[in-house]
Amino acid sequence: MSTNSSLPSYCPHCGASVTSTSTTCAVCGKSLLTYNQAGNQSNTYYPPLEEDIPSTPFNVLAFFIPVVGVVLYALWSGQYPRKSRAVGKWALIGFVAPLIIGLLFMVLFFMIALLSFSR
Ligand SMILES: [Zn+2]
Repeated sequence: MSTNSSLPSYCPHCGASVTSTSTTCAVCGKSLLTYNQAGNQSNTYYPPLEEDIPSTPFNVLAFFIPVVGVVLYALWSGQYPRKSRAVGKWALIGFVAPLIIGLLFMVLFFMIALLSFSR
């Protein structure tokens, strides 16, 4: 029964610390075995939780330059699930926010134009 050594010491789903003998995460309840069977072999490295903390400077960078955020998301998605999800979210916000602001300005401009015509 040495197969237990292949289990990650951190839950790949929620990042909680798990014991090497448990097959399901005590925090989120998801199976740790199916994750390994899904192609992630025994040598998969799970970083300590401290290394997988979403990084604020990179989140800000992703917000202003969404392309960088997407690249970082793809780069981190394997090793740092939490960090990658955060940077991906900010890239999306950074991509959508200018569109919404632009749309608001267009509506505002349209309404001002409409008001000045109706006089
Ligand atoms: Zn979990």
